[in-house]
Amino acid sequence: MSSGQGKTDVILIGAGVMSATLGTLLKELVPEWEIKVFEKLGSPGEESSNEWNNAGTGHAALCELNYTPENPDGSVDISKAIGVNEQFQLSRQFWTFLVNKGIIKDPSEFIMPLPHMSMVQGEENIAFLKKRVEALTKNPLFYGMEFSDHPETLKDWIPLIMEGRTSNEPIAATKIDSGTDVNFGALTRMLFDHLQDRDVQVHYNHCVKGMKRTADGSWEVKVEDLGGKNIEYHTAKFVFIGGGGGSLPLLQKTRIQESKQIGGFPVSGLFLVCKNQDVIDKHQAKVYGKAKVGAPPMSVPHLDTRYIDHQKTLLFGPFAGFSPKFLKTGSYFDLIGSVKPNNIFTMLAAGIKNIPLTKYLIQQVLLSKEKRMEELREFIPNAASEDWDIVVAGQRVQVIKDTESGGKGTLQFGTEVVSAEDGSVAALLGASPGASTAVHVMLEVLKQCFPSQMKEWEGKIKEMIPSYGISLSNHPEFFERIHEQTAESLGLMNKQQEVSRVMES
Ligand SMILES: Cc1cc2nc3c(=O)[nH]c(=O)nc-3n(C[C@H](O)[C@H](O)[C@H](O)COP(=O)(O)OP(=O)(O)OC[C@H]3O[C@@H](n4cnc5c(N)ncnc54)[C@H](O)[C@@H]3O)c2cc1C
Repeated sequence: MSSGQGKTDVILIGAGVMSATLGTLLKELVPEWEIKVFEKLGSPGEESSNEWNNAGTGHAALCELNYTPENPDGSVDISKAIGVNEQFQLSRQFWTFLVNKGIIKDPSEFIMPLPHMSMVQGEENIAFLKKRVEALTKNPLFYGMEFSDHPETLKDWIPLIMEGRTSNEPIAATKIDSGTDVNFGALTRMLFDHLQDRDVQVHYNHCVKGMKRTADGSWEVKVEDLGGKNIEYHTAKFVFIGGGGGSLPLLQKTRIQESKQIGGFPVSGLFLVCKNQDVIDKHQAKVYGKAKVGAPPMSVPHLDTRYIDHQKTLLFGPFAGFSPKFLKTGSYFDLIGSVKPNNIFTMLAAGIKNIPLTKYLIQQVLLSKEKRMEELREFIPNAASEDWDIVVAGQRVQVIKDTESGGKGTLQFGTEVVSAEDGSVAALLGASPGASTAVHVMLEVLKQCFPSQMKEWEGKIKEMIPSYGISLSNHPEFFERIHEQTAESLGLMNKQQEVSRVMES
C-alpha cells in the first residue's frame, strides 16, 4: 500500500473502542501501514464508549437472561450465551496480550472483577432460572455459576436488594464470580495513546462529511476541520466506518450496494446514579433482572457496581427511550435524514411493525424521576430519591433490514459488519453485545476486508489470541488454562480473592 500527501493506507472514522481495537490490531499485523483517524469530538471515547454512556458490563452471557431464551418445549437454548461468552474470551486474550506487551500498563484502569448475577421473582421465573443454570453449568464456560432461592444466602450475596423487602413473592438469583466491570472509555483512551505513540495520525475535531470512490478504487474522504472550518480531502485504500450511531449515514454516503435497504432505529438511555456512599458500599455485583413485557432487550434493568475514575459507584438502568438522534451529540434530524429512496419501504415496514415498541419507548422518555425510582425499588426496596441522580447515557442505533425470517423492515438487536464486496470499506452497525465483543467484531472486519492476507496473519493473530479459531467450550482444559492466564494478567485473580475477603469480613 502507498502513502503520500493526503493519501494513506487506512482511514478509521471515529475514535471509539471499535476503531481503537482495529487500529491496534492492524499496528500489530502490519506495522508499516500508515493509519489516519478522524474524530469529530475533541478526544477519544466520548460517545457510546465513554464510561458514563454505557453500562460497562463485560458481556460474557453470565447474567443477561435475554441470551438464554426458553424453547417451546420448555428447555433453555444456551447457544447464544455460548457464542457471546466465546467472543468475550477473545477480548480477554487480546487485552492480556496488550498488558503483557506493556501497551496497557495497569489493567485495573479499565477492568475489575465483579460477580455477575441474574435475579428473578415469582415461581415461574424461578423455575426458568433453575433450568437455565442447570443447562449453563454443563458447559465449561459457565462452571462456577451458583443458584439460590434461600433468603439467607441472598442476603449474603445482595444485602442491599434484600434489605427491607416486605413482599412475600419468592425471589432467586444466580451468581458467578468470574464476571467483570469494564471501563470502555478508559480502554479506548489507552489504546489511542498507544496508537499516537505508534505514529498514527489522530485528528480530533475533524468531522467526516462524505466519501466517494476514486478511479483506482481507493476512497476519497471529505473531512471538515471543525477548528478552522476548512475542508480537507484524504484518500485511502481501506476505510473503516467506526462512527457508532454515526456509521449508518456515512455508510449510505459510500453508495455501495451493501448499504442499500438498511435503516437505523435509535434508542436513547438514562441511568440513575447513586450519590450516597453508604448505599454504594453495600452492593458488590452486577445484578440483571428480567425485561418487562414489551420492553426491548437493551432495556433490561440492572443494578451495577461500577469502577469509574478509581471510584466505586452504583448505577441502575439503562431506561430505554426514544430520540431521533443517532449520537448523543447528534442532531434531531438524524433519523429523518437517514430515510433514502432505497430504504424507505424497509423503514416504513419497520415503523408499522414497531408501533408498540415506539409507543413503549416514548412512554419511557416521559417517565418522571419518581416513576423511575419505583422501578429501582423493585431492586432496592429502601431506595431514597435524594440519593439518586439521573444521567443521560449513550444512543444505540439498532439495525433495520429485510430478512428472510422476519420479512421487510425487521429490527435487529445485534452488531453487524457491512462491507463492500471488494473489502475496501467496512462499517459497524448496531450496538449489542457491543464493546465487550470489539475484538471478535474487528477480526470479522479483517476477515471480510482482507481475506487474502488472513492466512499470512494467522500466526500473529494466534500469538495475540491463542484460542483464535478454536471453540473453547469444546476444549475445557484449554479454556481453563486461557481463563486462568487472562485472569492473572488482567489482575482479576488476586483482586477477585481480595474482593471476596472484603465482602466476607
Ligand atoms: C446505554 C448503553 C449501554 C451499553 N452497555 C454496554 C455494556 O454494558 N457492555 C458493552 O460491551 N457494550 C455496551 N454498550 C455498547 C457499547 O457502548 C458500544 O457498542 C460501543 O461503545 C461502540 O463503540 P464504537 O467505537 O462503535 O462507537 P462510539 O464509541 O460511539 O464511537 C464512535 C465515534 O465516532 C465519532 N463520529 C461519528 N460520526 C463521525 C463523523 N462523521 N466524523 C468523525 N467522527 C464521527 C463519534 O463522535 C464517536 O466518538 C452500551 C451502549 C449504550 C448506549
